[in-house]
Amino acid sequence: MPVKNRFAELQDEITAWRRDLHEHPEILYDTLRTSAVVAEKLQEFGCDEVVTGIGRTGVVGVIKGKASGSGKVIGLRADMDALPIVEATGLPYASKTPGAMHACGHDGHTAMLLGAAKYLAETRNFDGTVVVIFQPAEEGGAGGKEMCDDGLMDRWGIQEVYGMHNWPGLPTGQFSIRPGAFFAGTDQFDIYFEGKGGHAARPHETVDTAVMAAQAVTALQTIASRNADPVGQVVVSVTSFETSSKAFNVIPQKAHLKGTVRTMSKEIRELAEERIKAICAGVAATYGGTVEVQYHPGYPVMANTKEQTEFAADVARKVSGQCEDAPMVMGGEDFAFMLEERPGAYILLGNGPGAMVHHPEYNFNDEAIPAGCSWWAEIVEQRMPAA
Ligand SMILES: [Zn+2]
Ligand SMILES: [Zn+2]
Repeated sequence: MPVKNRFAELQDEITAWRRDLHEHPEILYDTLRTSAVVAEKLQEFGCDEVVTGIGRTGVVGVIKGKASGSGKVIGLRADMDALPIVEATGLPYASKTPGAMHACGHDGHTAMLLGAAKYLAETRNFDGTVVVIFQPAEEGGAGGKEMCDDGLMDRWGIQEVYGMHNWPGLPTGQFSIRPGAFFAGTDQFDIYFEGKGGHAARPHETVDTAVMAAQAVTALQTIASRNADPVGQVVVSVTSFETSSKAFNVIPQKAHLKGTVRTMSKEIRELAEERIKAICAGVAATYGGTVEVQYHPGYPVMANTKEQTEFAADVARKVSGQCEDAPMVMGGEDFAFMLEERPGAYILLGNGPGAMVHHPEYNFNDEAIPAGCSWWAEIVEQRMPAA
């Protein structure tokens, strides 16, 4: 089964929505215009219910099938937010908001899910209920968590959730997925060393925090190389090293390290946190200083459930002929919060050649729209078939 004819017909219209969203990017929870556009279209399509303000600026639309005897409810989720990047595409519909850009293709995700909603409201060829979920603040603001905390799953009785992200480098309109851990848990840390500052020519009278912090940067690398099982995945990156001294001849009283931890399992995530604290405490004690470690949990590991992944891959193969096995991605994805609450699957949709997401020259590929929309529609029609 190739892409649905209806989406080939709707492609120009959906492309126009996508380009309009691209011109008007909004960051984190400030998706006021985007949310209004989404809600207005969902009303226009004849959704049975449209609710705004879920997870601050999130929007939910409900579409009932021609039958509801199955009692099934499926959630389909798209993200709406842009990034604080200065766009360098030179496109005629480039961002009109200085310093904001749809550099992750969430304009395409929103437009494709709107296209699917239009089709599903038109045809209703399924037995059950679809909940279309449009979330703000995927890029670091945990908008997915905010929507879940607002009772998204229980309020509409959602039983399974599906998500999709475009992927540059994967052939246009093709799909790629993996069961289990897929996107990394992403945490951050601040490490504050305190010693005793003093004259750089009289080090014996000081407790040097620059030496402590330097030792810690090196020692933290042993979490990946000597603590974690080599088969498990973990990245510990120290990305900022600052001391309280700006002079050539002053030993700093304080040093501050910042960084990120990426993991693919709860166990290794907990191990990394514990080891960072232990290593830093050990280093500080060794050199006679003190340390405070602040560990900030971010997005959890995003893990697809087996049954829903197999189903999602099967649908993808029917839409585009094949579905590749995806490698793990060490980036984070806040659909993880929805997958912590319900079984489901997250799939990658080929964006073709070109710049990677988060690059100032990235652009969503409108040629992927029919495949993306078809996947959404088929997920619904095949998971909840009408009699
Ligand atoms: Zn992104
Ligand atoms: Zn994204």
